[in-house]
This record gives sequence, structure tokens and C-alpha cells, in this order.
Amino acid sequence: MSTHAISWSTEQLTEFLAAISVFGDEETAARGGIERAAESFDAEVGALVRAGSIVTSVGFPIGRVPKRELLEAAKNRLPQLELPGVGAAKTISVPLEDGSSARMILARVGGDGFAPEEVNVLGGMARILGLALGMLRTFDSERALRESLQKRQSLLEKSASIQSAISRRVPLQEVLEAITDAAGELLGDEVVGLRMVDPDDPGMVKTVASRGVPPTLLRTIESNQVGEGIGGRAIVEGRLVVAQDYARTPGTLSQFAQLGLQAAMAAPVYEKGTVIGSLVVASYDPVRTYKESDQETLLTFAQHASLALMDAKTVDQMLHQALHDGLTGLPNRALFLDRLEHALARAGRENSALAVLFLDLDRFKGVNDSLGHAAGDELLAEVARRVAALIRAADTAARLGGDEFAILIEDLTEQRDAARLATRILEALRHPFVVEGEEIFVTGSIGIALGGGRGDDPLRNADFAMYRAKSGGRDCYEFFEEGMRAAVVERLELESDFKRAVEREEFVLHYQPIVELETGSISGLEALLRWEHPARGLVPPLAFVPLAEETGAIVSIGRWVLREACRRATTWEAPLIVSVNLSARQLQQPDLVDEIAQMLADTALDPSRLMLELTETALMQDSQAAVRKLSSLKQLGIRLALDDFGTGYSSLGYLQQFPLDVLKIAKPFVDGLGSGSGEPALAQAIIELGRTFQLNVVAEGIERVEQLVQLRTLGCDGGQGFLFSKPCDADSVDILLRQRPARFWDGWAPGSSVHLTSESAA
Ligand code: C2E
Ligand code: MG
Ligand code: MG
Repeated sequence: MSTHAISWSTEQLTEFLAAISVFGDEETAARGGIERAAESFDAEVGALVRAGSIVTSVGFPIGRVPKRELLEAAKNRLPQLELPGVGAAKTISVPLEDGSSARMILARVGGDGFAPEEVNVLGGMARILGLALGMLRTFDSERALRESLQKRQSLLEKSASIQSAISRRVPLQEVLEAITDAAGELLGDEVVGLRMVDPDDPGMVKTVASRGVPPTLLRTIESNQVGEGIGGRAIVEGRLVVAQDYARTPGTLSQFAQLGLQAAMAAPVYEKGTVIGSLVVASYDPVRTYKESDQETLLTFAQHASLALMDAKTVDQMLHQALHDGLTGLPNRALFLDRLEHALARAGRENSALAVLFLDLDRFKGVNDSLGHAAGDELLAEVARRVAALIRAADTAARLGGDEFAILIEDLTEQRDAARLATRILEALRHPFVVEGEEIFVTGSIGIALGGGRGDDPLRNADFAMYRAKSGGRDCYEFFEEGMRAAVVERLELESDFKRAVEREEFVLHYQPIVELETGSISGLEALLRWEHPARGLVPPLAFVPLAEETGAIVSIGRWVLREACRRATTWEAPLIVSVNLSARQLQQPDLVDEIAQMLADTALDPSRLMLELTETALMQDSQAAVRKLSSLKQLGIRLALDDFGTGYSSLGYLQQFPLDVLKIAKPFVDGLGSGSGEPALAQAIIELGRTFQLNVVAEGIERVEQLVQLRTLGCDGGQGFLFSKPCDADSVDILLRQRPARFWDGWAPGSSVHLTSESAA
């Protein structure tokens, strides 16, 4: 049944009770009740039958009431009633449970008869009608009538207030308490309990709300075997259970008897036709007995409570769905923002501090792209579990969307606590994730912002700080600082400019000479990409190549770089070599080899004058395919270099597996050379390694003469660095190539060149 129908039926019961409360005598109340019921269920006809006679009927032509058939239908022996001129109508009969054998009958044309939910609601209506009729019948004295009117009035009010609590979307627990409070007030009893079967363990019942139970006894009724006590029996037997003499009734709870409980009764509470709990009332009053009208009241109210509960649960569920993320079950952005707002207000009032952590997974897109969305989802759910396990119950972990999570820490005592949580989250993420049977490694970047007092937005600030953590190398956290905002905005601007740069071809190539260290002559030049930003001037590749890799734009840019570099190289004197950097994405291109072959043919560059530089990271990805492609490239006559060696995995495996010509020592290993204090061992090891594998070794980032001297001593073959020349544009390269001395250092300042010359002579 739809939620709409559920709430409609609860409301309908309340309305029904209100409607029949206004009737003054039994006969009109009966007729009014049947009329309303028939109307609500779109039934063509209806009747009330008691003790073998028809009390009232609606919908039949005057004088043509089918008495015999209605009595059969009342006994559930006639599922279908023929209505002349209308057709066959499905019948239903429900007891009024007013102490007499009265039953309400409805018959409806069309459809499959009455749905179980409808039977429920109809049962509730019949009970209310029975209660109203019973009261009208039994209480003939003025006082009794007034009392019963009051009772009906208050039953009505109680139900209405519970209904309104539900529509106000108060938490489920408050609805449960409203039910027990109302039952206590309705019956004037001191002790009330609402007990529910444990959904996780149907053999147990739990007290979900109570009043008047001494705190010492709350524990004993917290969770019990399903059949225990009066409430338990009502559940097991599915009917009203009354203990007029509590102590002497078998199966009651001895602790309560010892406290002096006199009488108790319990009515079952239903959900969709099955008993899910019971509503128990009890009294210490020595003269308390439960009259028939009291029993009716509890039964009716329990029925009411059943519908209200169903309603409340549905609302609760809908609310939960609206505020939680379906994939991870964590609060969503809306709920997080709501909690943050409250937390900020509270922090302001109580002068406390709070922190927001903004977590973004590193390279999550890669997982999604390579393993598929299902795997991505599985990973996110596991990340959510790990994060949720680390926070305190009072804190909030939410999924904001995509691979973004946020954590709200309230009552922060020290800034260090936020940092500590960030560290623990980063650690938790570093453990491998098993997704679809595969182990994958994921890291995260976290931004932290502190909040309280000032009206700024900690979530946005944490986002800025996260951005900084990302650009600061990932797998780390950063605290928000003023100024980050501007830096991030600048970066975002750059990103949007970049899209235009691709369209407008704002790229140029600069070239940096590579020098033969023994002779001092230029052996080749490395092409280095620059972005000529219309406002910012030259932008270095590190500021946009990672972005181009993420978006895939690097493939078309890289294609342009290759063609441009080869075209330029044809204008240089042979055998000068041009080195071109190839990104991982390019290496993954299936038609890379054909494309390069075609380009060499187009530009007419001798393949032996092209060198491709690759990093270990690029080789790592699908290395089987990489080996095949590189071998094909080698067969074309192209040279291959391993770039930035030493910074990655520095695996010997790569040196063996791939058909390489050149090993480039990364700048950090060159930095320490020649200073006296520096540790040349690593550079030396790499040079020797290169020699073992018969590779030409080129040192990157040579800035000082002393480094050059030491590299020559160590037997390094080539060098590149600001010492010789910074990368410069193509025209300057032409000038440099025309003017270059036989030995690069011959043109230098006397002191250093003398020293060098004597070194090389030695
Ligand atoms: P890389 O391939 O290792 O290039 C060497 C980098 O070191 C260049 O930085 C160069 O300017 C710099 N360099 C050279 N000598 C010195 C020195 O003595 N001191 C210092 N501090 N730096 C020196 P650049 O041009 O900023 O390029 C950075 C990286 O961007 C390159 O590292 C390369 O990985 C990438 N890149 C450049 N152009 C391209 C391209 O066309 N395609 C691809 N995929 N990546 C490129
Ligand atoms: Mg390079
Ligand atoms: Mg390099």
C-alpha cells in the first residue's frame, strides 16, 4: 500500500470516530457508521447485522434488502453478492467486537475484493462503531453518558494529537511515547508499556516506550522472551488479555506483583495484519477492575496506535531516505548542512569549538573508469564503513556526493584532535580494499577547517584546504588558512582557461640542450611544453599537464607536441636528437605506434633522431602492452629513455624488460652532488646500474659546476640543466646551435672553465 493510502486510512479512522461521535442514539449511529464506511471503501452496499437480524442497511432499494444473503455474508459464507442491475459485488464481514455478535458487512463491485490493508482499516472502523454503539447502549444515565462522551472525546483527541505528531514528522520515539501517554490518560492507569517484537530476533520483545515503571524495573522489561507477561500473551495469542487480579493470574511478572500491581490488561498491536507488539496498561489501585468499556477502549486505541505506528514508521523511513545516502547509508549533504548549522549555533552559544574534515579520495575516477561503476560503489561503501568506525557517536560522517565525504566534530577540545582523526582516516584508507575480488589501493586527501564564533563556512573552508592537500601531493591533510581561498580560486580559473587553451592552441614548445659530458658538445634537445596564457604569460607544464592527463586532453596535445618537435628537429643539423616526453595516457593509445610511424613519414625525420621519454609510472600500467609497443617503436629506429629514474619504483625489472637506450637520473640525486656534504652514492649507483645494462646515463637538473665535475668523475654520459642552458624558445635554440662552442664550457667564466679543463685533461 502506498504511504498516501496509509496516512489516509489513519486520518480516515480519526474522522470516522469524529463523525459517529455526534450521533445521539444507537440506530442513527449505526446507520451513519455504515454509510461512512461504505463511502470510504467505495462499497455499493453495506449493512449491520446482529443476532440474526439486520439492524440497518444502506445502498439497497427500499423494500429490496436481501436479508437471507446478508446473513450468509455476515457469516463469511457468501463471498459474492448479486446486486440487481449493478452486478456481482465482493463481500466482506468484520466483527464490531462490542460484546455482541454484531458484524459490519460491505459489498463492492469490481476489483479483486478487499485488500488486507483495507481489512485492517475496516476492522478498526468496526471496532470504533462497536465502541460508540456499546456506549450508547450501555450508559443510559446522564452521568454515564457524559462520561462516555468525554471518553470518546478524549480518545478522539489523543488519536488526533498522535496523528498530528506524525504529520509534524517528530521522531518515531516521540510518537511511541505519545501513544503510551495517551493510553495512560485514556484509561486513567498509572502504568503503561508499549512492547514490540524485536525485528532482529522475533523470539524477543522489547519495551519501546513506557510510563510509570519504576527505574529499577525498567531493566527487567527491557527485553523478554516473547510469551512473558500479560503483554507477551497478548502478542502470542493475538487478542486482548485481561488480568483482573494481577498477583493470581498465571504468567504475570513476579517483580511487578511484588510491587503491588493490582490489575493489568494488554491489547495486540498490528502491522499489516500481523501482531508486532502489545499495548499494556496496569494499575496499583486495589479497586481497579477493567470493565467491558475499558477493554473496548484499549482495544480500539491499540488498533489506532497500530495504524499510527505504521504511518510513523513510513514517514520515518521516507525522512531517512531523504536525508541519507542510499549507497553508504551515511547522512547526505542536506542532513550534514543541517547538523552543521545547529552545531555552529550551539558552538556560538556555548562558546565551544568544532571542526569539519573534508575527505576526497585520490584518483577515484581511475577506479571507476578501469573497474567499472559497481566496483566504484563497492569501494565507496567500504570507505564509508571505515570512516564511520573511526568517529565518535556524537560526530557526523556524511557522504556529500561522488567520492567526497565530510566529518563534523563537535565539542572539539584541541585542534590536535582533528589532526589526529585525519591521520587515522588516512591510515585506515591505506589498507588495501578488496573490490570484486581484486585488491586495490586508495589514498585520500583531507582538508580541515575549524569553526565556531565567526560566521564563515567551515565546510567550504575545509574544501579549500582539501584542495591544497591534493596539490600538495595527496594522501595527507591540511588545515585551512586564509589565503587558500584565493589560491584555489586561481587554480579553478586556470582549469577553466585550460579548456579554452586547447581549442585556441595556446601551446608552444621550448627546448633544453642535452650535453655530452665528455666532449661538452650538444647531443640533443628535450622538447618541453609551455602554455602561453593570454594574461598570465608562460605557464609551466606541472601546472597543467596533470590536469590534461585527468581530462584526457593530453592525448591530442601530446600528438601536437610530437609533430611540432619532429618538424622542428628536421631544421637542426643531423645527428641532433629531439627528446619528447610521452605521458601514460599516450602510451595506452592502441594506435600509438602507427601514429608515430605516420608522423615520422610526414615530417621526414630520421627515426634515429627521435627519442621518447617515459616515466616508470607510465610503464607500470599494463606493462605487457607497454613492452610490445616499445619494441615496435624500437623497430622503427626510435630511441627510448627512462625519465626521472630514482623517484619512482626504480625497479631493475624495468631496465631488463623494456628496450631502453637512456636512463635519466632525476634532479634530486644530482642536487646533492659536488657540495662536499652531499651523498654521491645514489647517483653513482644509478650510473653503474646504467653501465651494467649498457644504457646511456643522462643527469637532469645540473645547476652548479661542482655537480658537473663530480658527474664527469663518476662517468656519467650526458647532462642537462640550467648550468648549460635553461629551456628556451625555438628561435633562441637556433641562435644557440649556431653559436655554440665546440665544448659547452669553453665560453664560461675563467675560474670554473680552467678547473674543468684540467679535470677533463687529467
Ligand atoms: P622532465 O621531463 O623531467 O623535464 C625536465 C624538467 O626539469 C623541465 O621542467 C626542465 O625545465 C627542468 N629543469 C631542467 N634543468 C633544470 C635545472 O637545472 N634546475 C631546475 N630547477 N629545473 C631544471 P618543466 O619544463 O617544467 O617540465 C616539467 C615536467 O613536465 C617534465 O619533466 C615532464 O615530465 C613534463 N612535461 C614537459 N613537457 C611535456 C610534454 O610535452 N608532454 C608531457 N607528457 N609531459 C611534459
Ligand atoms: Mg623528460
Ligand atoms: Mg625528468
